[in-house]
Amino acid sequence: MNDTPYYKASRYFRERYRKCVQRICIDGGFTCPNRDGKCGTGGCIFCGEHGAGDYIDGCTIARTSSCNRTVSVRGQVDKRIGGYKGRKRFVAYFQSFTGTYAPPERLKALYDEALCSDLILALAVATRPDCIDEEIASLLESYKTRCDVWVELGLQTSDDDTARFINRGYESREFVRACGILKAHGIPVVAHIMIGLPGENMTHLAETVRFVNSCGVWGIKLHSVYVMKNTVLERLYREGKYTPPTMEEYAEGAVYVLTHISPDVVVHRLTGDCPPELLVAPEWNADKSRTMELILGTMRENGLRQGIYYR
Ligand code: SF4
Repeated sequence: MNDTPYYKASRYFRERYRKCVQRICIDGGFTCPNRDGKCGTGGCIFCGEHGAGDYIDGCTIARTSSCNRTVSVRGQVDKRIGGYKGRKRFVAYFQSFTGTYAPPERLKALYDEALCSDLILALAVATRPDCIDEEIASLLESYKTRCDVWVELGLQTSDDDTARFINRGYESREFVRACGILKAHGIPVVAHIMIGLPGENMTHLAETVRFVNSCGVWGIKLHSVYVMKNTVLERLYREGKYTPPTMEEYAEGAVYVLTHISPDVVVHRLTGDCPPELLVAPEWNADKSRTMELILGTMRENGLRQGIYYR
């Protein structure tokens, strides 16, 4: 839609590729250093059993070790591409857990496997900043002769006190360091931000937006915090120690982010979707279209656009 008041990823894809582009979410069988003891145990307090990959299609994940996926990367890609007809093109997106947390030769084999079709125009890898180094950045850069490449970094917040509370397992300066390495290798960064983290208010969110702008990211994904079954956050919620944001509070935060982020930043996501069977709270998380209507309606009614307050 032309009057969409923010720089939607679909617009970016249309302008760049002249095609409709769909993400193929891939489970590469990774784990996470914040779970296996390398930098922490238990993981982030909101993180579910599948490490942000709960919606991955075609992958029956019964994970007891770091590499226990039951469908190969090639199988996942083939299944998704086979399900689409017509002129679609695809992004191979390593979504689950930490997509650079393996030896480089293993990473290369997985990324090669994912790029098995000419219909795939880009490789996207979700990971943690503390799992980015020169060697991994060079490997990712090597794919730029084949397709576009970007890295998605789970920041959630720039506030290190909140980061400790949610057991993120790294300080925000790691994010700056990783962005610097990736930028030197010409690899764009998508920052993941969460609205409604425990103890956070609009002041924290404003600081996170300022921080993200200062890092020169290429894209963002916004997620509302939701309480998922079998997480530490579920325990806190049931003990009355955490209250998720209302839809109105989330929309207010999302509008703030959109109006203060650089107008050049590509917005890849505006909501976080919890699989219905795993959702504990808030109920409104299941109503994505109403959430989007509230965000877009607020912006349109008030004549707001992405970056209108960006400095
Ligand atoms: S870094 Fe990502 S995969 Fe690891 S525990 Fe946190 S949310 Fe889960």
